[in-house]
Amino acid sequence: MQIAEKKVVGIHYKLTNDDGQVLDTSEGRSPLMFIHGIGMLIPGLEKALVGKSKGDQLNVSIAPEEGYGVKDPNLTQKVPKAQFEEPEKIEVGTQFQVDTEQGAIIVTVTEVGAEEVTVDGNHPLAGMTLHFDVTVDEVREATEEEIAHGHVHGEGGHQH
Ligand code: ZN
Repeated sequence: MQIAEKKVVGIHYKLTNDDGQVLDTSEGRSPLMFIHGIGMLIPGLEKALVGKSKGDQLNVSIAPEEGYGVKDPNLTQKVPKAQFEEPEKIEVGTQFQVDTEQGAIIVTVTEVGAEEVTVDGNHPLAGMTLHFDVTVDEVREATEEEIAHGHVHGEGGHQH
């Protein structure tokens, strides 16, 4: 069976950046299970997987536009330190949730000044070319219930 829209797919993967640094991997875990074609994966990876079958391996490099997007400079802003409850605990890399008009987003502290803190609301992988090593572990039909729920049931998925 080949990967196509509405198939349930399990993959093992390793994600590295341009420097070969491992950013994420399924090694030692269950395969990542998803329903293909409904936007559960970044677009570039979904496209690369179309037509693949169980046991297939692929290496794919994905540009930011097909990954987590390019960095949006408007999502970076300076916030007065006084606005934080515990400003002494803020350091570069600290992440917290902020409510915006578009809903809650995770921001990351990128700079701590004397009076101001710079936070970045871009996805941590935005602006990066992503290199995936993927092995297809499973391909099967999605059940009607899975399609209705928008997620995979059973092992590696929802257990309800
Ligand atoms: Zn469900």
